[in-house]
Amino acid sequence: MGERSERACGCVVHGEIAAGALLLLGHPGHELRLHAWLAHARPTVAVLTDGSGRSGRSRLDATAETLALAGARPAAIFGVMRDVDLYQLLLAQNATRAWGLVQGVAIALLDGAAPALICDAAEGFNPGHDLCRGIGGFAVRLAAARGWKGAFYELPLEGPPVREGAAAGLALDLCAGCFAAKRKRSRACPDLLPDVDAAERESGLEVFRSEAFYATLATRAPGAGADGFGAAETVPYYELWGELRVGEGKYSSVVRRAGHVLPLFAALEACLRRELAAAAGGR
Ligand SMILES: [Zn+2]
Ligand SMILES: [Zn+2]
Repeated sequence: MGERSERACGCVVHGEIAAGALLLLGHPGHELRLHAWLAHARPTVAVLTDGSGRSGRSRLDATAETLALAGARPAAIFGVMRDVDLYQLLLAQNATRAWGLVQGVAIALLDGAAPALICDAAEGFNPGHDLCRGIGGFAVRLAAARGWKGAFYELPLEGPPVREGAAAGLALDLCAGCFAAKRKRSRACPDLLPDVDAAERESGLEVFRSEAFYATLATRAPGAGADGFGAAETVPYYELWGELRVGEGKYSSVVRRAGHVLPLFAALEACLRRELAAAAGGR
């Protein structure tokens, strides 16, 4: 990690603040884990779904307000599907739709001259997060082929913000004022309160005085962790969770990593190769 510097408010920055970066999130609400960073870096924020999966209500307005209060702004991709549509996209391995998202993110990186892309880490917890990480990886490669030179980071969503033993691209130690503002904002969206309460119960409140994101590998071979989650054989938690829901009759099918997510990424790899070959041929 690079330089240590202090902001006017008292927050301490370790590494690059990545001002003007593009933040790509699977669901609205993830931005709260980087709440102080939003105000320091004023990123553009892309969100895949509207967060309606739990209650049937969109959470986009709450996220839009969080961004406006922080001086950050929404990207063109901002809640472009419902959570149920994202599951459908995965179950159907809809590469056309997913490739459209990859292109949209790449265009946002290029047009905004973003110094970095930060996206959800794939932790095997929610397939929407892992899809987001995969889309981010392909978008970085597509944008780089068109001349974008930026860094690629991932944002852990499970457990404490700081990953023990991992070198952070950025770590931010919050001042008292920024921590109070984050805590207040984290409790502003009623649909997110159960998640906020659970996170504080499991990890303790104090760990959220830190915010961090981590350097990641832009290129991974499909079938061997294009989502950055690990070996292709690793069975993610979301499959077990899905099996329980199917058992309860709440879902009709389970999203499988080996059966849906990785084949979709293999199809995106083919899209990327076609695109790069066409660009090379047209030169
Ligand atoms: Zn501060
Ligand atoms: Zn999420």
